[in-house]
Parts: sequence; C-alpha cells; structure tokens
Amino acid sequence: MFEFYYVFMIRMILDLFFPKKCLACGILGNHICRNCSIKLRLKGNQCCPNCRKSNKAGIFCNQKCSNNFSFDQLIVCLDYDGSSLLRELIIMFKYKFSADLSRFFGELMFRQAEKFRQLLSWDIIYLVPVPLHKARLKYRGFNQSLLLAEYLSKRFKRSCVLDCLHRLKNSERQAKLGKLERQINLQGAFCLNVKNPNLSVSGRRVVLIDDVATTCSTLNECAKTLKSGGAKSVTGLVLARGHLFC
Ligand SMILES: [Zn+2]
Ligand SMILES: [Zn+2]
Repeated sequence: MFEFYYVFMIRMILDLFFPKKCLACGILGNHICRNCSIKLRLKGNQCCPNCRKSNKAGIFCNQKCSNNFSFDQLIVCLDYDGSSLLRELIIMFKYKFSADLSRFFGELMFRQAEKFRQLLSWDIIYLVPVPLHKARLKYRGFNQSLLLAEYLSKRFKRSCVLDCLHRLKNSERQAKLGKLERQINLQGAFCLNVKNPNLSVSGRRVVLIDDVATTCSTLNECAKTLKSGGAKSVTGLVLARGHLFC
C-alpha cells in the first residue's frame, strides 16, 4: 500500500509541472478528452473466447471450443486493434499511474457489463482482479486490475472485491510468446489466499477483472485456480482483447 501512495504522490507532483493533455488531440485537462473518448466505441457483439465466432454473450460455441478453458464467459469492452490511441492510453494506464484513466476505463467496463442482465441479477457480484507478482507490484506501485475492480465495485449496487489470488511466478512479460509458450509459462502461476475465509470463492460466481487479454492464458490460469477453490462460475471481464501481434 505504501508503494501506491508513493506513486500517487509522484503522479500528483508530475501533473503539477507537466499538465495532463489528451493523448489524441493535445487539449489540456485529462489523458483523454470528452470529444476524443467518443472514438473508443464499446464492442457490440461478443464472441466465442476460443474461435472468436460472434455471439451475444461471449460464451463458447460448444464443448469443443470450451475444452481447454476454465472460465465460462468472456466480456470484452474494446477491440484492441492496435489503434495508436487505445495503445497509448493503455500504456499510460498500466505503467504510469493515472487516476483519471482508471475512472475512464472503469466506467467503460461498467457500461459494457451493464448490458448483461444475468450478471446484474446476481445477489452479489464478486470481483476478482488478476494479481501482479509481488516484485512487479513493488516496482510499479499499483495493480491496474485492482484499480478497475475497485472502481466497478463502487458502480455495481451489490458487489465486493475479492483480492484473493496471489501470483507465484513473475511471468508477466509474455508479449513475445506464442499461445502454447504462454500456457506453459503460466502453469501453476497462481494460488488462492486460503488464510482469510472472507476471501473464499467457494460456491460463488465471480467476475475476473483484467486490462488486456490476448490468448486468455492468464485469465484461464486464474479461472482454473478459482475453480479449484470451489468457484461456481467465472466470467472474465476485460477492458480490451488484442490479437497476438498487438
Ligand atoms: Zn482530445
Ligand atoms: Zn468457438
């Protein structure tokens, strides 16, 4: 937590000397201005997480498609098509703490999730952020997925953040790896916090929160861990989904 405040303070000081500008048009104010934010359209139809065939709910086409996956559904907010604006915004959000971007992206995720009535009908929406490894958290000072989960928990009426996953392997730099290499790299990378019974996922439907998913290997490994702890279902909710070349 200390690191987070440290990063927060540095960010505040930097903003004083270097006022924030919209990354698209350069207007002073926030990292994205109201006019330019319209360029980021929420994804209409979802698709099968495996073969990417279009469907409304982001579920798997059939057993064959769901075979190697442990989560049940994937809700994607934006297509990460390599557009420079989204890329720059995500880099800014991920690596340089930006409170306005965590609100902006959190709100996009909330608006997308709101379209899923079945999700809103749950008694409590348990939000589980994809964790960072301890060393990376120390280096970066904050976990962007946790910031998104915390924002979402303020927006959903009945929800709770369950920060119950630990990352055991520091295997986050996967951009240059192929699908199979990513899967192997992540095997056994997560575990559950079993010491705190309040963080139990047993019998609960959970929403797993991440910023960018590509092959979904990370989401899948997290979902596997959550199911091993008795989670009833796992819905992935990600800000953007990229292709392997992103
Ligand atoms: Zn702008
Ligand atoms: Zn499919």
